[in-house]
Amino acid sequence: MSIIRNVAAIAKGMSITLREGFEPTQVENYPDGKGPLRGAQLQERFRGKHQLQRDENGLEKCVACFLCAAACPSNCIYIEAGDNTEETRISSAERYAKVYNIDYNRCIFCGYCVEACPTDAITHGHGFELASLNATTMVMRKEDLLVPVATGLPRSGNEEAEALA
Ligand code: SF4
Ligand code: SF4
Repeated sequence: MSIIRNVAAIAKGMSITLREGFEPTQVENYPDGKGPLRGAQLQERFRGKHQLQRDENGLEKCVACFLCAAACPSNCIYIEAGDNTEETRISSAERYAKVYNIDYNRCIFCGYCVEACPTDAITHGHGFELASLNATTMVMRKEDLLVPVATGLPRSGNEEAEALA
């Protein structure tokens, strides 16, 4: 009886293999596919290159509290804080990130920095083509991470100052 059961189980397994063999191939045609991702398909939860977010007024959400850097197990976040002034306001709080670097030579995309951030300033985007033969290009600066000001939003004091300079 056990021999018959085993043969039946093998036949059942092989029938599934045979059936799937004639199904259309389902693979991602990256990098030769269509669209901006060139065939790659990413889930919403995918942890790609980070983004530094702005609030509804266009100000930077990062308040330079250093919690993300403290939470990072790879020690790959480097921040220098600056003070907002009445003339030049970058974030809505007392301080802003004057320098914000992430070293992607070290980042393991664990997401701890995102979890630690009290203002939702840092999030994971979907950028994934980060490989480089030059390690120095793997250090992304604030300018590489900051989302652009949405059209119609007021500019931060710093951007106003730059525009007037
Ligand atoms: S994802 Fe992880 S390793 Fe990368 S910067 Fe954030 S905390 Fe550090
Ligand atoms: S990204 Fe968030 S956690 Fe990191 S320094 Fe800015 S406000 Fe603090």
